[in-house]
Amino acid sequence: MRRLKGQTIESLCRRGKYLLLELESGQTLVFHLRMTGRLTRTESPVPKSDKRHLRLILEFAGGSALTFHDTRRFGKAFILSTDEAPAYWKKLGPEPLESSFNNKYLAGVLDKRTRPIKSLLLDQSLIAGIGNIYADEALYRAGIHPERPAGEIGGEEARRLAKALKETLKKAIKLGGSSIDSYRDARGRSGSFQHTFRVHRREGEPCPGCGGIVKKIKVGGRGTYFCPACQR
Ligand SMILES: [Zn+2]
Repeated sequence: MRRLKGQTIESLCRRGKYLLLELESGQTLVFHLRMTGRLTRTESPVPKSDKRHLRLILEFAGGSALTFHDTRRFGKAFILSTDEAPAYWKKLGPEPLESSFNNKYLAGVLDKRTRPIKSLLLDQSLIAGIGNIYADEALYRAGIHPERPAGEIGGEEARRLAKALKETLKKAIKLGGSSIDSYRDARGRSGSFQHTFRVHRREGEPCPGCGGIVKKIKVGGRGTYFCPACQR
């Protein structure tokens, strides 16, 4: 377990699935929560309970702290210097909610690619921040089968997909994210987007659009949920 003392956060931001805390020292503390990582704001500098799986404590000058717990240890916490940062973030594609991610950009990314569309959406070097849940839900919203070769999707369908990605993420953010296993925000609150899933984790249940049965397959090794009737 690592402890960083007397810290002050200058600003907070996010890039793809990474959370960035810019410290007064000029360094950036970066977190990637993955499956079970959890950041919690606490008033006492050393939390007495819940010490299991505690990986990092960031102690603030005023006495409160931010803790990073991770039961399965897939999450990451590391420091990037100002010099290292630009090269690190260059590996990521554009943010879907920014204006640089538009129909033209998506059409360019899809063009001539033979990979299944679901796998392409999860490729962080092409589009940053789309995870398994959001890829499934956006493809359902756009009416596109997850195994379709990406290069086949163009014109009106590509426009529909760009819109679906933006809408899915905006809705999920509004609902505080998805708490399936362990996700909580820094104040300990669960998200509620999981209650609105249309296909994800709903194998064998009726599709909310057509009443048909939601199926589960593997695409690029990832569990993928879709409606065979609504998604072509
Ligand atoms: Zn359906």
